[in-house]
Amino acid sequence: MEPDFTLDDEGLHDALRALIDAKRTPGTPHGDPGAVLVLPDDWPDAGIGGRAALASLADTALVRPTRLDHPGFFAHMDPPTPWMTWAAAQWAAAMNQNLLHPDSAPAARQLERVVVGWLAPAFGMGGGHLVPGSTVANLTALWAARELTGARRVVASVVSHLGVEKSARILGLDYVPIPVDADQRLRVDLLPDDLGDAIVVLTAGTTATGAVDPLDAASGAAWRHVDAAWAGPLRLSSHAHVLDGIDRADSVAVSAHKWLYQPKESAIVLFADAARAHAAISMGGGYLAAPNIGLLGSHGAAALPLAATLLAWGRDGVRARIDADMVLAQRLADRVAVEPALELFARPTTGVVAWRPRDADAAAVRDRMSDAWVSTTVINGQTWLRSVADNPFAEPDRVVDAVLAAAATQSDTTL
Ligand SMILES: *Cc1c(COP(=O)(O)O)cnc(C)c1O
Repeated sequence: MEPDFTLDDEGLHDALRALIDAKRTPGTPHGDPGAVLVLPDDWPDAGIGGRAALASLADTALVRPTRLDHPGFFAHMDPPTPWMTWAAAQWAAAMNQNLLHPDSAPAARQLERVVVGWLAPAFGMGGGHLVPGSTVANLTALWAARELTGARRVVASVVSHLGVEKSARILGLDYVPIPVDADQRLRVDLLPDDLGDAIVVLTAGTTATGAVDPLDAASGAAWRHVDAAWAGPLRLSSHAHVLDGIDRADSVAVSAHKWLYQPKESAIVLFADAARAHAAISMGGGYLAAPNIGLLGSHGAAALPLAATLLAWGRDGVRARIDADMVLAQRLADRVAVEPALELFARPTTGVVAWRPRDADAAAVRDRMSDAWVSTTVINGQTWLRSVADNPFAEPDRVVDAVLAAAATQSDTTL
């Protein structure tokens, strides 16, 4: 009757086979933005069936995307994902539990509590919940902070993530940006004297350079939130000390879809006193058997891929992978530092390396790169290349060679 809701065994196997085949080919380190989708402009009246539908989407889904596991990809904060997460995400889609409902998703709710319980202590936090990204984690934390403290303003460094100012605006709070020092860290000496009405957001791993604000700053604030979207997982590595002081925060945001190698969308908002914070941002009543905590309505079992990863690797395996990524960042920085044609912004502290060619336009060089890819970022009004160490397959020398070659081509043509 309804085979699409039961099981097309062969169709599912074909889909999995297409995934495996795609993963066995190397692909390219950056997608082609000019490629055209071969799909009808108008949604057709007649369906083509599940197998044909997936076949016509395979190019878009599996072939054309940037390969985050390519040895030449040393770019954005998007990691390749381990295979367990592909299976776990598929299981979650098939069972479609909704964490709003204890009766239909009892297992998924328990699993989320367990996974948060595994991770929270590393940050000195008592608990929290999963959200689709740190943009939402930051907004959730700031909402709880406003409810519990009556704070009127959000104070953060000028290089804090744009989502911090976005959250302030949504919550009707003033946003107060504070200058940074030469290392892109918040200037503690320029914080307002009286922070009694302020939520101070400290960044652990800025977007552009991976800088870590002094995490013990602003002890007089009404609330202290640490945006550890990027660098949070360092807490689980041999470099945990880089985030010392994070355990004194009232709340912390960590994106699992960055340095915990999770498929999007996966992040965690953590609170020192989770029961109190959750109570402040809960709504109950009506058809809900349990209060609805935080910003999300219906949401699925994002804890499933994360649990699979944390179990598969254990504490040792997570630590080893993040440590290995840090070595890649160091190797990239070491090489850049000895290349006369290249300039290093700073030694990386959290796996983010900002660098550029000395005598060529960074953005133009980036666009000429072949078989390797980096992202670009703006620091003090100037464009730099940026490499983020969350691709375990990245080959620093290959990426440097590609930039040097592209820079040489550029100066040849402009002379
Ligand atoms: C990525 C990032 C965010 C936003 O997180 P998403 O998971 O993309 O929503 C916030 N703050 C910092 C420092 C980030 O690097």
